[in-house]
Amino acid sequence: LQFETIDLRDTLSDLTHLLNRLVGEKITLMLEHEDGLAPIRADRRQLEQVLMNLVVNARDAMQKGGKIRVVTHNLTLDAQMRKDRVVVPPGEYVVVNVVDEGSGITPEKLPKIFEPFFTTKRTGEGTGLGLSTVYGIVKQTGGYIFAESEVAKGTTFSLLFPKHDARS
Ligand code: ADP
Ligand code: MG
Repeated sequence: LQFETIDLRDTLSDLTHLLNRLVGEKITLMLEHEDGLAPIRADRRQLEQVLMNLVVNARDAMQKGGKIRVVTHNLTLDAQMRKDRVVVPPGEYVVVNVVDEGSGITPEKLPKIFEPFFTTKRTGEGTGLGLSTVYGIVKQTGGYIFAESEVAKGTTFSLLFPKHDARS
């Protein structure tokens, strides 16, 4: 585990070829970055694992193809933000949204997706460990993760990483 200062645009552009290969030809992957995106502190390999896991899950939910958007932006929270059971304290964050047009997740399943071994995939197609690993990695950076979903419309995963203050 090696934390370094990371510009998510660089990480994502380094991964573009691999991610495009993973999603296949029926899916268009779009990367959208805000200008002046703040740096974060994370382990580069683990961050890559997080992004790959989220994109592969999105792909698996989109049998008919479509588009997956990976959007990054800065976010300042003046007050605490709540998303279901996730409470994010005020502060400065760098956000990554992974937005798909897939099958979505039912409200009954949504609270379980970060649990180890929770999977709806057939034996051999999923271990159910992807999102629990993702969750652990995001937590290790001091960040937060949550998912919002609508069945038959799609799912958005949001990752909030604490902005790295270059002076500290
Ligand atoms: P696995 O991919 O091995 O099943 P994960 O931990 O990565 O395990 O995901 C757990 C479950 O969460 C998946 O089996 C699926 O039911 C659901 N899931 C995760 N991401 C998505 C998504 N983008 N769209 C729909 N369902 C999803
Ligand atoms: Mg997975």
